[in-house]
Amino acid sequence: MEAPNSDKKVHHAIVLPLPLQGHLNPAVNFSLKLASSKNFTITFLTFEFLHQQITQACPRDNSDDIFSRARTGLDIRYRAIPDGLPLEFDRAGKGDEFVGWCLHGGMFDLMDKEIEKLVLNSNPKVDVLIIDSFYPWASKIAKKFGLRSASFWTEPALVFNLYYHIHLLKQHGHFDCPDIRKDPIDYIPGVDSIDPQDLMSYLHDKDISTNIHNSIFQSFQEIRLADYVLCNTVEELESNTILALQDIMPIFAIGPIFQSESLENIVSTSLWAKSNCLEWLGTKPNCSVLYVSFGSLANFTQNDVVEIAYGLMESNVDFIWVLRPRTVLHESNHLLPMGFEDLVCGRGMVVPWTNQIAVLSHPAIGGFLTHCGWNSVLDSMWYEVPMLCFPVFSDQFPNQKLVVDDWKVGINLCKEKPLRKEITAQIKSFMIQHKGNELRKHISVLRKLLGNALEDGGSSSKNLDLFIEHLDQ
Ligand code: UDP
Repeated sequence: MEAPNSDKKVHHAIVLPLPLQGHLNPAVNFSLKLASSKNFTITFLTFEFLHQQITQACPRDNSDDIFSRARTGLDIRYRAIPDGLPLEFDRAGKGDEFVGWCLHGGMFDLMDKEIEKLVLNSNPKVDVLIIDSFYPWASKIAKKFGLRSASFWTEPALVFNLYYHIHLLKQHGHFDCPDIRKDPIDYIPGVDSIDPQDLMSYLHDKDISTNIHNSIFQSFQEIRLADYVLCNTVEELESNTILALQDIMPIFAIGPIFQSESLENIVSTSLWAKSNCLEWLGTKPNCSVLYVSFGSLANFTQNDVVEIAYGLMESNVDFIWVLRPRTVLHESNHLLPMGFEDLVCGRGMVVPWTNQIAVLSHPAIGGFLTHCGWNSVLDSMWYEVPMLCFPVFSDQFPNQKLVVDDWKVGINLCKEKPLRKEITAQIKSFMIQHKGNELRKHISVLRKLLGNALEDGGSSSKNLDLFIEHLDQ
């Protein structure tokens, strides 16, 4: 790790991620990176309800501050503030209501006051706001207090580019019009061509008047006022898109953002208690186990879960399946087919949550059945685990397009509804025929590319320094 340089200017950034696992993880890791190697003071802002969930998931870290064990030598200040709703409000179950509160409710006022307090009272003086791109008032607050605003984008640049040009999609009849065109989209700067079915799911929804939709649309108006965009991707992975975006605004590809190995396991960000799968994995041959996870948000019907369960069982492939609490929103007591766990005993492990990085880096893992959440895609490429893709919603469709069509490091599970026969056949062929094949060759090339980007002189390393040079001016 690069040592902080005492001659360099000290910056003080307020970092505010969305209170979701896939946004929290890169924000925490990026904060650690800035504080440990780039002379930054960080004030990490989060919400009480999220803090409570993290500390309940990991009682060992039951302190007021998730950074407390990483603090030595780092100036990271942690503040978990109320979000204005009762702690017991079901934010996951009432997602659209919660987003409505963030959009039109009291969240803006709360943040405005909190940031004002920090700006008035902090030493060193706060000079930059690094705020998740999905907060639709980020740049407004930064401007009000004379701070630089860096919009923190936790998905690929392709998705940013598509949302940014939503007006073009509408003009050309691919979004929000009576007769939606089905031919490929070939007019977005930096995107050769993309099938409409590979767009983000929100652009396919019949009702686009929800709070979630409004929040996305408003955020992409707000982003136009940001001073910088920090994107958790790598220039060489998405070069055309990034070049095209750089013509419009200062965007810095600074990924992949992971926790530095020396800080690993020190800051706990998990929203659920992690089951240990390593002992079990240790009993399995190399590349024999399929890791199955659909991330922190995707919901399924009970029937989908049953089909996946049979697909796994009948494939005869060993597996670890992360079946997160509330994968089915209104779950019954018997989510899995009767006797499932006995039938797969010794062959399969079903856990509510785990340490994904530890699992993916284990030599027994041979493939990842994934929803294609962006962090999972980066994790999988980093540990050279080919992907079997089953996107569910949001950016997972364009992410799958990148993984399967552009980078050729994964294949699709099935077209639409998961059906056991198709799942069984795909898992078998993915784990047996694809072993050591083209996917592995491609993924090892990409792994090198990701690694090089983070080396001194690598693209992400240079881009991060460039971002800091901008702040220095
Ligand atoms: N993750 C984890 N344990 C699990 C499943 C996921 O630690 O059992 C982490 C994973 O490493 C990633 C995040 O949770 O950092 C999920 O983010 P992603 O973008 O993949 O999906 P999302 O949850 O946003 O849909």
